[in-house]
Amino acid sequence: MKIFTSISEMQKQGLFLKAMREKTGFVPTMGFLHEGHLSLIKQAKKECSSVVVSIFVNPTQFSPDEDLESYPRNMQKDKKMLRYLDVDYLFLPSAEKIYKEPFLTSVSVTGITEVGEGVSRPTHFKGVTTVVTKLLNIIQPNILYLGQKDIQQAVIIDKMTKDLNIPVKVEICDTLREKDGLAMSSRNVYLTEDQRKSATALIRALRKAESLVNTGKKDTKIIEREMKKELDKYPDIRPDYILFADKYAFQPVKKITNETVIAIAGFAGKVRLIDNIIVKP
Ligand code: AMP
Repeated sequence: MKIFTSISEMQKQGLFLKAMREKTGFVPTMGFLHEGHLSLIKQAKKECSSVVVSIFVNPTQFSPDEDLESYPRNMQKDKKMLRYLDVDYLFLPSAEKIYKEPFLTSVSVTGITEVGEGVSRPTHFKGVTTVVTKLLNIIQPNILYLGQKDIQQAVIIDKMTKDLNIPVKVEICDTLREKDGLAMSSRNVYLTEDQRKSATALIRALRKAESLVNTGKKDTKIIEREMKKELDKYPDIRPDYILFADKYAFQPVKKITNETVIAIAGFAGKVRLIDNIIVKP
């Protein structure tokens, strides 16, 4: 595995791979890798001739009161996992290099960034879309692999690449879960034993919603009420939002008439948890 810390060297390699007509898959991450990340990388290895993974804890997508400083990191373990998966290139830029002063440009998507996570984290998506644009320009991949775990992020990035004619295909991969259903996340490491047990509240509420949809319920208010009852069983969990959004338009819906994302967020202590499922009427 070749490791690049230099932006220009990584970009040179990306352009070279493109000129050689390699099919390059790219998996951006913030590190502290788990099976969820690895599933995206395995998918990329299956479909592409070259795979690039980046590890970059992007400061601009954290607000000042969030966990940038305490975000979990273990570079040695991450590198070992990536070597084991036979990843071709690892890109490890520093924040100083990515945001070389004076840094004056940003990329922002409107509308679909203003619901769900965007309400709770108003500056988050601008940080994400700006850094992903930069990473795509540096790496020049054919396919970008993103997780359904962060469905709103994936939909926003897909829209951005289309709006800005960035020549990359976005592939959204399934959410990997622990045995009890909890969506894998780097932040799960910070859950206490009790919080870890309560953290399944999110997937339990989502599964409740799914079973209601499967029995023909369409009214999102009714479904939301039942989801909240499920969440109430877990006093350790402080719910943030429940969003029903059309999968493509990513705008709130009152009735489930098309493919609908049900997204949920909450806190276990200071740990922010998110999860979602996609349902069909
Ligand atoms: P992160 O390191 O949290 O920024 O995540 C990097 C990529 O991995 C994003 O595209 C995430 O959506 C994806 N990802 C995170 N958790 C999971 C999971 N449990 N299953 C599948 N993909 C995931």
